[in-house]
Amino acid sequence: MTASFWTRVSGRLSEARSVVLSAGDRTLNGPELLAEVERWAGMLAGLGIGKGDRVAVQAGKSLDLVLLYLAALRIGAIYLPLNTGYTDQEITYFVGNADPVLLVRDDAREPLAGVQVRAISDLATFAAGTPPPAPAHDATADDLAAIVYTSGTTGVSKGAMISHGNLLANAEALVATWELAPADRLLHALPLFHIHGLFVALNTMLLAGGRTDLIPEFNPKAVLAGLSQATLFMGVPTYYTRLLAESGLDAESVSGVRAFICGSAPLTPQTFEAFEARTGHRILERYGMSECGIIASNPLRGERIAGSVGRPLPGFDARIANGEAIGVLEVRGPSVFGGYWRMPEKTRQEFRDDGYFVTGDVATIDPHGVIRIVGRDKDMIISGGLNVYPKEIEERINDLPGVVESAVIGLPHADFGEAVAAVVHARSPEDFDGAALIATLRGELAGFKLPKAVFVVPELPRNTMGKVQKAALRARYSSHFS
Ligand code: ATP
Ligand code: MG
Repeated sequence: MTASFWTRVSGRLSEARSVVLSAGDRTLNGPELLAEVERWAGMLAGLGIGKGDRVAVQAGKSLDLVLLYLAALRIGAIYLPLNTGYTDQEITYFVGNADPVLLVRDDAREPLAGVQVRAISDLATFAAGTPPPAPAHDATADDLAAIVYTSGTTGVSKGAMISHGNLLANAEALVATWELAPADRLLHALPLFHIHGLFVALNTMLLAGGRTDLIPEFNPKAVLAGLSQATLFMGVPTYYTRLLAESGLDAESVSGVRAFICGSAPLTPQTFEAFEARTGHRILERYGMSECGIIASNPLRGERIAGSVGRPLPGFDARIANGEAIGVLEVRGPSVFGGYWRMPEKTRQEFRDDGYFVTGDVATIDPHGVIRIVGRDKDMIISGGLNVYPKEIEERINDLPGVVESAVIGLPHADFGEAVAAVVHARSPEDFDGAALIATLRGELAGFKLPKAVFVVPELPRNTMGKVQKAALRARYSSHFS
């Protein structure tokens, strides 16, 4: 039987004599971290929490939060991270859906219907006392380790059921692919409520026995300063565009870093090239999702191709639906989730009979197996009966002078069904000429792909993971043609 993630990680930590985790002045080596997790696990068990119980957490980033997460894995409870930006009303949906026995927050003064709420600082105090010993770890690879709610970019958030085996499989594949090692030091600026910061960054470093330096949030100046000590950095595309705005970013300032890894949203070729010009680093883009962990990655040693997410990780199979050249990407692999929590119908819809999961992303796969994501199925535009892939148009617009970035969307239109519209983040919005943009594209793109309207904005709406909120843009401009 395959081991659980915790079994493997605790074995690794027991041998890691140097620092594996830091936050501010607080540092822990492997055995110290293990001892802390034992205390937190005993504390949770003392609260009556056991295997299979859901522990929902909406708390700011801290070292204690990592201890809480690992303690939940340690006792076989199901960890349920929630975005710190969610309002009480949104949290009520998740609590109602997941039915946790405990909700941990920064502030426990506000009670929430139907669930016991505790402040993380109180849990830390209990754990620092004399908690009872934690029970033996008996989670197996098939037991649930976490329920991760998707970002809600395309609709209501769904709880992806992730097993201990899923976590281990993905962490092992990434440690191998990126050659993560005890000598590595990751500057961790990501939130801990999303798979990017929690599984892709933290789990992999713990499994590798390397060091993770937690900083509370992404701040370009703090990150630039921290990079002088780091060998690795992981971020969403907006982190890289914001780093590029720092005059101090150059090859020398990041000379100890061996890889800059990026994902959660598409990295534009413009950012990829600008970052290489400034630092000499070709950003290593990878692709994943809450349901699957990381699916594909550019190589550590081979060529990294701008605009592509590389090949499937070891153990993953990828194909385009119905064998087409361009279409919805379907994947199969050891870190693919077991289904959506309490949504059996949705789960059935998203799996093929042969076990492939339907990602909802539209992609191409070249003869070498290299995947390019061209957008989301739900963002595809059908104009006058013809398919329009937003990315093709966005890439051309992004190359025009004065454009920072763009989002191409379909809007309801009486004749065409949907009409193509471009929302452009311009360097100086007052001076930007939308009609000139359409005129420039006219010679390059077929008529049905041409934007019929251009909206100039000072910034594109994004969520905390840097994902452009196309549904919000469609809603904002929905009546433009009607
Ligand atoms: P929901 O499923 O609720 O609509 P979501 O899909 O945004 O939300 P996540 O699981 O956080 O929720 O994000 C996964 C998605 O992020 C992928 O399906 C893909 O669309 C996008 N993504 C991740 N990495 C990349 C990448 N490198 N390039 C392009 N898209 C990416
Ligand atoms: Mg999704």
